Order: sequence, then structure tokens, then C-alpha cells
Amino acid sequence: MKTRIVILGGAESGIGAAILAKKKGFDVFVSDSGEIKKNYKDVLLHNAISFEERKHSEAIILKAGEVIKSPGIPDHAPIIKKLKEHDIPVVSEIEFAARYTGAKKICITGSNGKTTTTMLTFHILKKAGFNVGLAGNVGKSFAWQVAENDFDYYVLEISSFQLDYMFRFKADVAVITNITPDHLDRYQNKFQNYVDSKFRILQNQTAGDFFIYCADDPVTMAELQKRDILSSKIPFSLSDMADREGAYVKNNKMTINISSNKIKMGLENFALPGRHNLYNSMAAGVISRLFDIRKDIIKESMSEFQGVEHRLEFVTKVHGIEFINDSKATNVNSTWFALESMVRPVIWIVGGVDKGNDYSCLKPLVKDKVKAIVCLGNDNQKIFEEFATLIPVIKEAPTAEEAVQTSYNLGMPGDVVLLSPACASFDLFNNYEDRGMQFKRAVYDL
Ligand code: ADP
Repeated sequence: MKTRIVILGGAESGIGAAILAKKKGFDVFVSDSGEIKKNYKDVLLHNAISFEERKHSEAIILKAGEVIKSPGIPDHAPIIKKLKEHDIPVVSEIEFAARYTGAKKICITGSNGKTTTTMLTFHILKKAGFNVGLAGNVGKSFAWQVAENDFDYYVLEISSFQLDYMFRFKADVAVITNITPDHLDRYQNKFQNYVDSKFRILQNQTAGDFFIYCADDPVTMAELQKRDILSSKIPFSLSDMADREGAYVKNNKMTINISSNKIKMGLENFALPGRHNLYNSMAAGVISRLFDIRKDIIKESMSEFQGVEHRLEFVTKVHGIEFINDSKATNVNSTWFALESMVRPVIWIVGGVDKGNDYSCLKPLVKDKVKAIVCLGNDNQKIFEEFATLIPVIKEAPTAEEAVQTSYNLGMPGDVVLLSPACASFDLFNNYEDRGMQFKRAVYDL
């Protein structure tokens, strides 16, 4: 009898996993406690894969040889608990797909900067002519690509939720961009659990593999002291690292030094704005040099890569007031970098679902740069409590449209309206993309 593979969650990663599992000859069943989107349902029907929606039928699921779980399903979901009670192995789609490809895997995790670093790296590799796929949390699912058009290289953005269900997977190149508190609700409110999850990106690495990390990140550095890491460790930093292997910034130039071969780039040539993006660019630059990509290709890529939508995205200027969409800033650290990169008076649109935010590190920047705050959330009490003594003007807006209108009324030519919420979006929006889109639409309607 064929082994049954059950896939929990019928969205991008789940459908990709189903296609791959079917191709590999398993008895495949997809189960989603919500509704499966029509386009995905069509794919399942077309591939004769059985599925159910709005329920999890234990009679079928508990007969699985292995279960592939969507990263959105938390550990405490009843069906996951049941599977654990029955000792049925549960893995992530990334773990499953990796069994069926011999490609080199460049894997990027961290609290912030994953998508930007992943996309920039992909951009450079593609430009250099590599046969490379983009997957993980971005693009088409990894499993789907392995099933249909396997590549020689993959750049994978990997979240902690995926890492938690990865066991034998090995990254050829692993990157941790940084580690700051996020998603603690899924880690029993223990920061160390979240740190441990991020460090799973290094599991199974051996001496021939690489680990790229931020030497300016205190959490990563403290953790490195505790661990015995077999792969080659390559740091990046905004401080001079002299002749050490890695990447650093000195005298307004970024240097990437791999195997004693240096490449230098003037900071004025980078298309991506903000200090945080120097970190992301250093990480991508180190990866590119590990694969011997030519210096001119790296330089050209860095000067043309404009960034990813909803990440410090310039929208437009209206009567001299600039609008920036940083809707993806769903935690305090990403908003810190957004505010830090501002050089003109800021009208700051903030708020949403607070994940236990500690706003204290933002206060000096807010005091220095922000002239007015517009709260875009259902419950804005905490923002008032934290900032009312610092900033005289705090308004509330129940919609993106009103937030834009209010900010515009408060602004003067030369000001910047920055949507960088430091919070999740689920109180008023479907997701951060929806929040960013509504913001942009409102700006264009001014
Ligand atoms: P992720 O995929 O890890 O969420 P993104 O590249 O999508 O990261 O960026 C998310 C948010 O964090 C954006 O607001 C972006 O401007 C900010 N950001 C990007 N890179 C960094 C970084 N290295 N450090 C801190 N914040 C960052």
C-alpha cells in the first residue's frame, strides 16, 4: 500500500507539496480548516488529488505516514496535538521538498530583512545567469518548483515557523539577518525559544558550508558564543573589519572581502534606502562572492535593485509632501530603521495589532524626527500612553483613507508621511499588503 501523506493547509506551500508528493507516488490528501481558494482547488482537481475544506477529518489524517504542515498552523492547534499524541511525524514543506532536489540552497532567515535580502540575492544570481529559483515565503512554493522545473540553485526565505518543522534539511549557505523579538506569542513568550528556532537554519551544516551573520546584532553574537558551529562563519558589520573575511562599511564605501579578494562600492550607488538595507546588501554581496559572481554584475545589481513593495516604498509626492509605504514594518525593530532613515520632518502613521511591543527604543527617534502621529488601529491607547508626552499632535484614523487625509492636512511641503505601523494589520485589514495597497490608493486619490 502507498504511504499516505497528509497536507494541512491548502494554500501556496500546501498545494506545491501536494503536487510533489503526488508526483513521487504517495497517496496524497489535503485538508484545510478554512476554505481553499478556487485557483488552488482547480489545481487539486486537475491533478486528481483528494482534499477537504472547512474541517480536518481525523479518520483520514491520523492514518498518515507523514504530515506536511503549513507554517500558519500553530503548534497548539488541536490537530497538531493529536498528531503528536499519535507519534505521526510532522514536517514543513521546505523539509519535504528538499529531499527531492540536489540543488544548492541559499537560505535566509532573521527577524527583519528576509524578503529584501532574498529578493536582492535572487536578482544578482539571475543577472549572473544562474539557473536559480526563488522560494520559501516568497514566490512560488519550493515544492512546486522542485516538482515542475527543478533549478540548480534556490534562494529560500525561511521563517521560524518553517524552521521549527525542519530536521534533516541542510542549507549550503545560511544567513541570519538579525534577531529581535517577534512572534513571541508562538514561542511561549520565551525569547530564547525564538532564538533557538532561528538557529535551526544551521542544523546539519558541515565544514564545507557557510553561515553569514550580522556582527552588529547582539543577540546573534551572544548566541554564537554558546554554540559549536562547524560551517565557515562570515560576518557583516557597519564597522570596519580591517582584513577579516566578510563585509563592512568604511569611509562611505562597502567592502566585501571573500578569499582575500575585495570588492568596494560607494554607498551613493545603492538604490535601496536606509541603513538596514546596507545590512541586507552586505549579506547578499557576501553570498554573491561565495559563488564567484563578477564584481561588475554585483555592482550593477545593487545600483538597480529598487526594493520590494511595502518596504520603505516611495509612493509619490503631493504638494511637496512625500508619502512612504512601509506597511511591512510589523514590529518595533523594522520601524526603528524606517524612522532612523528619515531626514525630513515625519508625520508617522502607526498602530494596529500590538504583539507585545516595547516602544522605548523608538522614543529618541520619535522625539527627534516626528512632528505628528496618526494612529491607524482599533485600539490606540498604548500609543497615546507612550508618545503623548513627546509629541503634541496625536490623531486617530479608523481607515487608511482617513489616515492619509489627516496626515496630508497636518503636513507642509518638505514633510514626509511615513506609514510604518510597528504592528500587525489584522484589526482593520486583511494583511499588510492590503494595508499598504489601501494606503497607496488613498495617496493617489488625494
Ligand atoms: P522580512 O521578510 O524579514 O519581514 P522585509 O525585507 O520584508 O523583511 O522587511 C520587513 C520590514 O523590516 C520593512 O519595514 C523593512 O523596511 C524593514 N527591514 C528590512 N531589512 C531590515 C533589517 N536588516 N533590519 C531591520 N529592519 C529591516
